[in-house]
Amino acid sequence: MDEMEANQFKDFGKEMIDYVAGYLENIRERRVLPTVEPGYLRPLIPDSAPLKPDKWEDVLKDVERVIMPGVTHWHSPRFHAYYPTANSYPAIVADILSGAIACIGFTWIASPACTELEVVMMDWLGKMLGLPEAFLACSGGKGGGVIQGTASEATLVALLGAKARTMDRVKKDHPEMSDAEIVGKLVGYTSCQSHSSVERAGLLGGVQLRSLQTDASNRVTGEILEKAIKEDIEAGLIPFYVVATLGTTSSCTFDKLDEMGTVCNENNIWLHVDAAYAGSSFICPEYRYLMKGIEKADSFNFNPHKWLLINFDCSAMWLKDPSWLVNAFNVDPLYLKHDQQGSAPDYRHWQIPLGRRFRALKIWFVLRLYGIENLQAFIRKQIGLAHYFESLVRSDDRFEITEEVILGLVCFRLKGANEPNEALLRRLNGRGVIHLVPSKIGDTYFLRLAICGRVTENSDIDISWKEVKNTADEILSKK
Ligand SMILES: *Cc1c(COP(=O)(O)O)cnc(C)c1O
Repeated sequence: MDEMEANQFKDFGKEMIDYVAGYLENIRERRVLPTVEPGYLRPLIPDSAPLKPDKWEDVLKDVERVIMPGVTHWHSPRFHAYYPTANSYPAIVADILSGAIACIGFTWIASPACTELEVVMMDWLGKMLGLPEAFLACSGGKGGGVIQGTASEATLVALLGAKARTMDRVKKDHPEMSDAEIVGKLVGYTSCQSHSSVERAGLLGGVQLRSLQTDASNRVTGEILEKAIKEDIEAGLIPFYVVATLGTTSSCTFDKLDEMGTVCNENNIWLHVDAAYAGSSFICPEYRYLMKGIEKADSFNFNPHKWLLINFDCSAMWLKDPSWLVNAFNVDPLYLKHDQQGSAPDYRHWQIPLGRRFRALKIWFVLRLYGIENLQAFIRKQIGLAHYFESLVRSDDRFEITEEVILGLVCFRLKGANEPNEALLRRLNGRGVIHLVPSKIGDTYFLRLAICGRVTENSDIDISWKEVKNTADEILSKK
């Protein structure tokens, strides 16, 4: 058989490493948004897979010809859409090793290092964030962490744990009620500002989730939550799950976690905290005030793959009592049983799929090769860049800041009506020098500028601001 041998792999791999380093180092020079039209790619490659192998040199050449024209460059300092997605050299190298070991770590015996490194890395990360001991495996209690693929999965998994816990309790109190009857009465709560994946978790989990209106500062407070819960209990429903958001996707706003936690604890409701983006900032002690009340939560999740330089996918989730998941999802066919069951987590019970990659390696590499101090410096620098952009916006009377800038997101708009702002965004993205996405809260349409690229400097922010300002000049002079 004619296949790639180790020698060729070494050549191909080295060439690819050079290509990757060159791509990332010179990413500023590429237009952040591609200019291609839908369907651009099919005519560039053959209709069918090759019968005989191509040469790796030709494959590498085709990356520039076929792929790069259709890439949105998320790691460009001109990319300000959504939230960042992480990227660093240590994480890329770790993924090469993960690809080589290529184990499926669903049980301890399926690759002990895969499970054991994950347990320890989740403790390292938890300590870096200052999470309460009750979430950490090293505390010797029930708690512990797990790497999920995405925050969306964490929200669903927590919902299923909450459902199992509440079903168990209600069945003990009301043996006459059937499962279907109980499920029909379960109700969960989240903010109208929470991520769309929370609503989706409710749909996937087959339970009602109420979307709560927020206070004037776009937050859910203890009072708002308590009122909704009281109404539902009076209507015969069973409140079981609350998702609090720390750092909403629209505007990086923080729910009143501490107050919500008190209400949840008093009513025996599972509290899950979604800090997908903002969680990384808690490695800096000066931002931990944003998670005040975290000790009242049952589960906590953030995405190192957003803002902690650990490439997608790596969503870190901690649970005070994972046994609710382990019991809820436990199916134990003979081929997955092993003698050491119980002495280490069998992570297959903590997640929806069976298979899992060796993702703890990239946490290990990044934490060791940056060190906590450099990661803190990175977060602080990015927040500083957001404040720098904020100061530029504030220096121009035509604009306003619509939400307090706390982390690396700046929400801003032209004062007055929405239409000029819609035109501004369309034109900015049409020019493709920088890339932003808008949002809307209530009737107010605004632009979001997120600090994304790892290599972003003040001079990059000057370029982004100049682009916004010049485009605004064009829009406003046309009127
Ligand atoms: C980005 C984001 C998510 C979704 O993250 P995934 O890992 O892509 O599922 C969820 N919640 C918040 C607040 C987010 O900002």
